[in-house]
Amino acid sequence: MQTEYDVVIVGGGGSGLAAATRALEYGARVLLLEKQTQLGGTTGMAIGSFTGNGTSLQRAAGINDNPDDHETDAGQFAAPEIEAHNHSELRRFFLGQTAATLEWLRELGLHFHGPNPEPPNRVPRMHNIVPNAKAYIAAFQTQILKLKGTIVCDAPVVELIREQEHVTGVVAIIGGERTSIRATRGVVLAAGDYVNAPEIIGRFKGNQFRSIEGVNPKACGDGHLLAEQIGAQLLNMDITYGPELRFIPPPGDPFEQLLPTQGILARLMGHLVPYLPQFLINWRIKRLLLTWQHPENSLFDDGAILINAEGRRFCNEKTFPEREIAISEQTDKIAYILLDERIAQHYSQWPHFISTAPKIAYAYVEDYLKLRPDVSISGTLSEIANARHLNLDELQKSIEHFNEYATGHQSDPFGRTNDSHSLTGNRWVLLGPAKAYFTTTEGGVAINQGLQALESTGTPIPGLYAIGCNGMGGQILWGHGLHIAWALTSGRLVGEALGKNRR
Ligand SMILES: Cc1cc2nc3c(=O)[nH]c(=O)nc-3n(C[C@H](O)[C@H](O)[C@H](O)COP(=O)(O)OP(=O)(O)OC[C@H]3O[C@@H](n4cnc5c(N)ncnc54)[C@H](O)[C@@H]3O)c2cc1C
Repeated sequence: MQTEYDVVIVGGGGSGLAAATRALEYGARVLLLEKQTQLGGTTGMAIGSFTGNGTSLQRAAGINDNPDDHETDAGQFAAPEIEAHNHSELRRFFLGQTAATLEWLRELGLHFHGPNPEPPNRVPRMHNIVPNAKAYIAAFQTQILKLKGTIVCDAPVVELIREQEHVTGVVAIIGGERTSIRATRGVVLAAGDYVNAPEIIGRFKGNQFRSIEGVNPKACGDGHLLAEQIGAQLLNMDITYGPELRFIPPPGDPFEQLLPTQGILARLMGHLVPYLPQFLINWRIKRLLLTWQHPENSLFDDGAILINAEGRRFCNEKTFPEREIAISEQTDKIAYILLDERIAQHYSQWPHFISTAPKIAYAYVEDYLKLRPDVSISGTLSEIANARHLNLDELQKSIEHFNEYATGHQSDPFGRTNDSHSLTGNRWVLLGPAKAYFTTTEGGVAINQGLQALESTGTPIPGLYAIGCNGMGGQILWGHGLHIAWALTSGRLVGEALGKNRR
């Protein structure tokens, strides 16, 4: 295997593939190393929304937009105490680049529908890839192979090579052997986030969060650790999206994943999307919603309880993240949401939904029963207990104890308050298994607008770049669509910089 390239990229998710594609378009010799047996990372699992401003799709829809307005609105998604940590200069710079990235993606043959609204964005900015985020991976892979880039999977990078301050290469495990590879222009860290990295989570966020899993079990923060080991600064490492309650993913690939992401059929689908009736688009969005969106906390305000695999209540369902920490301590780290007849009926129509992509789609009890039978069941108490192998006696006892509290006969042993309805009826709905998950993490390597990794003094580390979730640079990108927009924009920009510039 060749052991010298212009650019070596660590990670084959959205950001790394974008970087490789763009550097190749400028004629660089590129090697991309991916630790998994296939490309994709979290990007490949995602819904695929790309939020940007000033795009041609916005103009076609008669929307005037600009990065300054977008920056103001982007600051309204996270709670003020989290937003206070944002690197506003960097985020404003990024938002000024989103339109160019989207046009580049469209030139690569990708199709989007939208823009779709996502308040508090003042205008529609969310562009949704057709049919799903795997299309990004397929398009980049095709282009990289066409431009004679080299992709090696099953090749974890375990070390950065540094000579006289310069990062000059990496050590990767390839075919079981430690292999040193030289990068004449730069090494790009694009290794994703650390949702499933107990050591990092424990160190920066607190040990009580260690046993909470990440939605992507392979996102272990390797790139953050590689950067830290050679003195790069890490920012906002305690800021995470989640932990939050989510249903376990469906078995196998959800239907969307079977849709073609490449070739004539994908192109046809892209051209047809603007003409599809809205109900079909809503149906597709609802499928994604049922796969990934979290159940609403209002379920518990309205009386639902959580029980564990033994059929027992174990926490105050209305306090988080304590609730999520408690779930992660139960057998198999799972819990079920129990709704009685009254609550199930309540959550069967607007405005009481179980999950939502706000103002886009809403999922009710019947949607779950129809489309996610793996995480929903209705019937008598003994039918649902049997179906999910719960101990019926324990389940009945949990309900009795809860009812004594709800009717004012005793206080709740877990400290829950403000419930006044007993759980009763013949038709019960059990939702789950659900787990507590980290969805994404906001912490990353400090970078400048050239995507160079920085030491804590602010000095760039020569030869080292960080992008995507690995190189968040202190930005807070709450809301849908900004993480992918950042991954692909930072990838495009670093690819361009390293493709053009010879060191
Ligand atoms: C369910 C879900 C849905 C989402 N939907 C959206 C959405 O619609 N819009 C949006 O903006 N954001 C969404 N996000 C977030 C978004 O998908 C991610 O933040 C983004 O895709 C991350 O891209 P990345 O390139 O930084 O990382 P990744 O795509 O995770 O790529 C990192 C790659 O690096 C590899 N790697 C790791 N360590 C090493 C190593 N040592 N050596 C070599 N390779 C390594 C990994 O295996 C992986 O392939 C979603 C997240 C989840 C979990």
